[in-house]
Amino acid sequence: MTRNPLGKVGQAKEITSLSNPVIKDIRALNLKKNRDRTSSFMAEGLKLVIDALDQGWQIRTLVYGRDAKGNAPVEAVAARTVAAGGLVLEVPQKVLGAITRRDNPQAVCGIFEQRYAVLGDMHPKPGETYVALDRVRDPGNLGTIIRTADAAGASGIILVGDCTDPFSLETIRATMGSIFAVPVAKADGSGFLQWCDGEDARLVGTHLEGAIDYRTIDYAAAPVILLMGNEQAGLPAALAERCDRLARIPQSGRADSLNLAVATAVMLFEARRHLLEV
Ligand code: SAM
Repeated sequence: MTRNPLGKVGQAKEITSLSNPVIKDIRALNLKKNRDRTSSFMAEGLKLVIDALDQGWQIRTLVYGRDAKGNAPVEAVAARTVAAGGLVLEVPQKVLGAITRRDNPQAVCGIFEQRYAVLGDMHPKPGETYVALDRVRDPGNLGTIIRTADAAGASGIILVGDCTDPFSLETIRATMGSIFAVPVAKADGSGFLQWCDGEDARLVGTHLEGAIDYRTIDYAAAPVILLMGNEQAGLPAALAERCDRLARIPQSGRADSLNLAVATAVMLFEARRHLLEV
């Protein structure tokens, strides 16, 4: 049987106290350093846990509230967790609320192993679109972008430079499960540019001073890597000058820019317009 990284062998267990060391370890996943150290993260809700299991993500611990005892889908997920060598915990609502930091927690949450795609294994093919995010800082933006990339049929996300953690609770919530479907890779700026150089793809950057109207670009001519800038600083010159096209979304009104996730959605659905059918 697989040993659970939180220290226990997979089995159902009732825990009532917040001071239980396993519960403490789970609550500690609130901090990035603990997620990194254990290479794990939390996903809330039965739908997300089932999505993750269906997509082959490795579950370490399933926590469910007492109120969900006897609920057939929850019991089925518990059985899958045990079969995968994970730990199943039954806890009072107050413990579930403390773990998820919610007054009205979902019936279950799962602790999963983190998984990053390897950038060098990504090879954009015709009809594919990738989204590269330069130093994205806002967890809600990143989660929304992952969800939008999934909906638009993008093939992967590349986190360039010092980005917010895709496995934080806030990001995971905002992805609504798409974190389990869209490969996420990370690279520093030079590693990203090196990868671009080696691939037969068009690098389309977005910039408030971009010279090209985003609606005039031929997105079908080659695989596309959409490059989006940081929320505060936008794209740095070192990245902008390497783009094959520098696109601008024309605006009117007083706003000086679009929110990063909104701009990414506009670009993605335009870049994939010819591929999406109703
Ligand atoms: N102050 C920043 C600047 O000067 O670039 C604003 C950054 S904006 C909030 C974040 C990112 O969204 C930009 O770097 C760009 O990638 C994209 N973006 C937002 N509005 C855009 C627009 N109208 N045209 C092209 N890209 C846009």
